[in-house]
Amino acid sequence: MENKFDLIIVGGSMVGATLACALADSPLKIAIIEAHTPEAFDQQQSHDLRVSALNIASEQVLRNVGVWQSILDKRSCVYRRLKTWELDESRAATEFDCADSQQDHLGYIIENRVIQLALLERIQRAENLHLFKNNVASIDIQAGASLLTLDNEKQLITKLIVGADGANSMVRRAAGIGIHSWDYSQSALVINVEMAQGQQDITWQQFTPSGPLAFLPLSGNSASLVWYGEPDKIARLSALDNETLCQQIMQQFPAALGKVNKVLAKGAFPLKRQHAQQYVKPGVALVGDAAHLIHPLAGQGVNIGILDAAQLAQTIEQAAGDRISSADEYAYNSDDDFSSLAVLQDYERKRRNHNLLVMQLMDSFYRVFSNQIAPLKALRNIGLGVAQRIPFARKKAMQLAMGITGPLPPLARTSNQ
Ligand SMILES: Cc1cc2nc3c(=O)[nH]c(=O)nc-3n(C[C@H](O)[C@H](O)[C@H](O)COP(=O)(O)OP(=O)(O)OC[C@H]3O[C@@H](n4cnc5c(N)ncnc54)[C@H](O)[C@@H]3O)c2cc1C
Repeated sequence: MENKFDLIIVGGSMVGATLACALADSPLKIAIIEAHTPEAFDQQQSHDLRVSALNIASEQVLRNVGVWQSILDKRSCVYRRLKTWELDESRAATEFDCADSQQDHLGYIIENRVIQLALLERIQRAENLHLFKNNVASIDIQAGASLLTLDNEKQLITKLIVGADGANSMVRRAAGIGIHSWDYSQSALVINVEMAQGQQDITWQQFTPSGPLAFLPLSGNSASLVWYGEPDKIARLSALDNETLCQQIMQQFPAALGKVNKVLAKGAFPLKRQHAQQYVKPGVALVGDAAHLIHPLAGQGVNIGILDAAQLAQTIEQAAGDRISSADEYAYNSDDDFSSLAVLQDYERKRRNHNLLVMQLMDSFYRVFSNQIAPLKALRNIGLGVAQRIPFARKKAMQLAMGITGPLPPLARTSNQ
């Protein structure tokens, strides 16, 4: 039947669209429902405000689902060095260089829209993937046959609904899945600027008493700055005209920034931590921000979301019987249906603890670096110094930044992992 699907993904942004692409060519008939498809890309357009630092694991997944070249063909900026320090760049600084681990790069800064567009192009080419450019109006979850009604009143039936619909997930609410959440009492002002200097290959972050200041290079002489602080302060900065904001940047950002010619665009984002109490229920699974929202200071949010998508796709495909070649262990019976709770729980087991660990790590960074108690200040400087001087600590921290440590779904592994 035309309106019957094996699987429906609500949300066709970076994570939902990655899941769909990872299941392209599978025997499953899949619908992707996305309310806001992005404007087509044109090299003449200025950089979008929303960008992501993608690590090696995400690159590998996007390569394996066949969209990486299309992303590079549009616009991206490679980074080969990563530096972190507190107050004084010359002391207690940690710098990672890809050459230290015989890698060509540490990651890429890419506009979210560029990643989403490359994935949507792949979706349009796949025969088993059907994109609906609609809002989901209502969801009635029933094991084995859930009903989704779109804003044009079209009704779709499916065995499995995947919520890739972001932090305010409607799928999560319809499934009655609760969240643990708290406010960081911090906002982030993202500012696109034109630099006096040309394209750079370093991304850095300075921890200050009022919050981190971050630099992310973009292609050409553009860059993305992130100014973290209390919501009132960020609202005040956000209300400044671009010229005054540029002067504030030159006064408050470290000398490492160099000269900023002008502010091109800005936007403020409130920061919250949120974790779904379960990732799965009968007939439902959550991925990406629908499952977890984390502090963006180390740029991990979409990276862990892409790993969710890679793992869920692998688990579903394995259970659907398309590729039974992986050596990975699956904790369910081989005759279980791909949408059964036992199969979905296998996905949850493989992702939830890992994500929790990353969230806790981000929280520790946030707490330790936003605290001005003298022993903690001493401890974090020692910590940064240790990470710089001890080869094992350096290697571990670098692997973490690149996303090549911990349990990785097969789609995220490079040939030597
Ligand atoms: C300032 C900032 C900087 C960040 N930097 C980084 C970084 O450098 N690296 C990194 O890894 N992460 C970063 N993140 C986090 C990253 O942006 C998110 O983790 C990521 O966008 C989540 O993607 P998603 O696809 O799960 O959800 P979303 O991007 O929220 O997409 C959800 C999609 O679902 C659609 N949708 C929702 N409801 C419906 C409905 N009812 N019907 C139809 N469609 C619907 C929406 O239109 C949307 O397209 C940053 C976040 C912030 C705030």
